[in-house]
This record gives sequence, C-alpha cells and structure tokens, in this order.
Amino acid sequence: MQTPTPIIAANWKMFKTIDQAITFVVQLQGELGPVHDREVVIAPPFTALQAMRQIMNVPGFRLAGQNCHWEEQGAFTGEISPLMLRDAGCDYAIAGHSERRHVFGETDEETGKKVQALFRHGIVPILCVGETLEEREGGKTFDVITRQITAATEGLPPEASAKLVLAYEPVWAIGTGKTATPDQAQEVHRFIRDKCASLFDKDVAKGLRLLYGGSVKPDNVDALMAREDIDGMLVGGASLEVPSFKRIIQFHTGEK
Ligand code: PEP
Repeated sequence: MQTPTPIIAANWKMFKTIDQAITFVVQLQGELGPVHDREVVIAPPFTALQAMRQIMNVPGFRLAGQNCHWEEQGAFTGEISPLMLRDAGCDYAIAGHSERRHVFGETDEETGKKVQALFRHGIVPILCVGETLEEREGGKTFDVITRQITAATEGLPPEASAKLVLAYEPVWAIGTGKTATPDQAQEVHRFIRDKCASLFDKDVAKGLRLLYGGSVKPDNVDALMAREDIDGMLVGGASLEVPSFKRIIQFHTGEK
C-alpha cells in the first residue's frame, strides 16, 4: 500500500483579516514554490474563505473550514453549513476541535452529525479527538478516544471512512506550549489506527491520515513526523507566521 500523502494543516482560529490572509498565502506560496509530496491545508476565518479561494488553486494547497453546522440551511443564526463551505471552495473542514467541544459545549453526537453532513457535501472532515489533562492523569485517554471516534463515525459508509482524516489533539497540549512527546503521540496514534481497523477495515486503517496537533513548532515537527503512525500536523499558533509555518511544512524525517 502507498504511504499516505502527509497533510500540514493550519488552524487560524479567530485570527487574520482578509488582507492579512491573502498577504500570508501569497508570501508562503512565493517562498515555497509548488508543493508535490505533501498537502498544505489552511483553515482561515470564514470571512476570508472566498478571497483565499482565488489564490489557493496552486498544486498542493487546499482550503478548509474550521467548523460547520450539520444542516444544509435553516434558521440557525450565526452558523455556516457544509453546502456553504463547499460553495466557498473548501475541500476539508475541521470537526470536533477541542475548542468547539470544551468552550462551546459541542457533544460527540453533534460532532458525528457534522462528520456525516460534511461527507454528504463532498468535504473531507478532519475529525479532532483528544483527552484533557485530568482524563490522561486518570488513565482514561484510550476510553475517551474510543468514545469520540465511535460516536463520530457511527454509520459512515466504507467509502467515507476511507477518506476521513483524524487529528489527535491532546487538550492539554493545545495552545499551552506543552507538546506530547513523540512517544506519547505515537502511542495514541497507533491506538487510533488499531481502533479504526476494528471499526472500519484493516486496509482502510493503514491508509488513513492521522495528524498530531498541540503546540507543534519548527523545533519539534521533525521528531513527531518521524514516527510511524504520524502522517501530518494540525497547527494553531505556529501557523500564524510564515517563517514558522513554512518550516513546519518543510519537515524532514529521513526514512520512516
Ligand atoms: C489547534 O488549535 O488545533 C492547535 C493545535 O493549536 P496550537 O498549535 O496552538 O497548540
């Protein structure tokens, strides 16, 4: 089986105006040139999607939404639908980010509905899972991950589960400067792949792209990316400046 193409994804959260987003991407593309052996995915604020679409048609670059509602349209003030994300040029969307779960109270069930809705509209979900510090210290990491993946993928048709991207983002590592060690991340990634083998199919699980997220920086990306079951990065803070995000995109690992 072919090794999955790595994904380096930027989650810009509630940062950058339209002008700042465009300036960033133009500079990044100018410095990187075409990207062929990895995918660069950028999730800007919704307001910048349409403008960014015009400049993201460069090989290797893809646009993502940071969140969505599960309905196609309706009386849901302040929400955005998968249909609208598709219309704005998104190929990917983040589902179940820990800030959605822990700041806005999103449930496993709601995350599952988002995953299903995104697939219905031809958008690949980047499903985030991860434990809090309390859960890790209580020895509950694997139970939490199992619960989150099971709830979010229930009833997914096989062709959809084969495309799903999962991001392991330990809540204690997001925006805190504390990164999981490569061993800690690898251990959970292996668990996720094995879990997906039992929930979906062994071959499907081998081909899935499993991203790590949580204080990824230029100085830890290589060691994380070198581990067998880590196929990409989901980056918050360090994706906001061109030099650090560019260095993360240019990770090097040697042979895995
Ligand atoms: C994130 O928001 O998904 C994230 C991983 O943030 P940071 O890289 O800042 O920890």
